[in-house]
Amino acid sequence: MKIGQLVRKFIPDIIQYCLNEDQEEISRLQDLEYSKNTFGISSYPFWSKKDAIHDSKRFWVDIYMIDGEQFRVSSQWTIRHIEKFKNYLVDKNIATSKTLEKLEIEFERVNREALEKKVQSKGRYRGHAIGNSQNLLVRNILSNLGDETFSEKNWQDTQKYFDNKCAYCGSEEKLVIEHAIPINKTMLGEHRLGNIVPSCDQCNKKKGAKSFDQFLDDNERIDKIKQYMKLKNYQPLQEHSDFEIIAGLLEKAYRDTADVSKRYIQIIELVADTTT
Ligand SMILES: [Zn+2]
Repeated sequence: MKIGQLVRKFIPDIIQYCLNEDQEEISRLQDLEYSKNTFGISSYPFWSKKDAIHDSKRFWVDIYMIDGEQFRVSSQWTIRHIEKFKNYLVDKNIATSKTLEKLEIEFERVNREALEKKVQSKGRYRGHAIGNSQNLLVRNILSNLGDETFSEKNWQDTQKYFDNKCAYCGSEEKLVIEHAIPINKTMLGEHRLGNIVPSCDQCNKKKGAKSFDQFLDDNERIDKIKQYMKLKNYQPLQEHSDFEIIAGLLEKAYRDTADVSKRYIQIIELVADTTT
């Protein structure tokens, strides 16, 4: 719960309490020492008469009329003051613990919804950033399955198997490492011997997120890649009997990345929040 939100909500009730139960409290709350002991706030009193305020940035702009005088309330609250503030409300019978609990749940819901809206509306750049990290996690998982390594020697041998030509178009231009089955959460390709084929730069870019057999319409070339996979004992996860379980796990990893990020945004915003 945001402390500022809570304080502001109860200002009218505190005023009512002062007027009805304890008029002295109006001046006590203007006292720095009393405010410090009561709430833990240290640089400014709970409230101050409008004309007596020097540092007006430290007080909310709202003006409250109390006994014919204009008051403004200090905005200098942090999460550390929340317990003392709640105790004050309960001590003075301004609110019950139960009301505060309910309010806390309500505030959390409102804040969560606001945060979700904010995360959704953070625009293309941030949406992109989170999408990238989600895909990176999936790539990282898929690329690290299994024990075998892919060495320089393996790469040389792979190129030789394909006659030092692009596995897709036969070009002899500079060859780059290409994953026949792409490493993403839909295709479940891996960075393993058998799934790595040589490709020219152009085919590599054109192929994008397609699988080799979607990209190619030349059956001979498709068969050659399939044979190579067999030769290297590469069994695509797409053909695994537990494919759906594995795809579900990667989907979960993908979503978890966004949730972790959302959770930390929320925590850090909460910690950093002094609701000025
Ligand atoms: Zn090519």
